[in-house]
Amino acid sequence: MNTITATTPRVWIGCLACYNDGRLVGEWFAAEGAEDITLEEVHAHAGGVRWGCEELWVMDTDGLPISREMSPAEAGEWSALLAEVDEWQRDALAAWVASGDYIAEGRGDLPSLPDFEERYAGEWDTFEDYAAELFDDLGYGAEMPEHLAP
Ligand SMILES: [Zn+2]
Repeated sequence: MNTITATTPRVWIGCLACYNDGRLVGEWFAAEGAEDITLEEVHAHAGGVRWGCEELWVMDTDGLPISREMSPAEAGEWSALLAEVDEWQRDALAAWVASGDYIAEGRGDLPSLPDFEERYAGEWDTFEDYAAELFDDLGYGAEMPEHLAP
């Protein structure tokens, strides 16, 4: 069992069958290892697992780069990804993901860390280079006659 601190990403894992029955059964768990959380653990304070309880679902997150519902397996993947990022870079990673304009890899929408690091380290040598790329990204380059662009 992991110790939960203020900075430990955590997830609220609930039971879907109970939820559909109108019973909010679940607990906060560390996101790390979320995929291994069992039905018994989720129902520990709810009188135990009932007939029909089967699927667990992350209904809330705290400290992950994304906040939406997901499977416990995906939460575990986000946690593992985060563990590979230096703590001081995590806000930047979250901002990159939140922008919606990030590069994903593998299944789902986990961000590609090599691409993140490449961008975060600074893709541009000078401010002019940065401005030029931003200019192009915003689509101005295509609309403007070439002799006016500079
Ligand atoms: Zn249940």
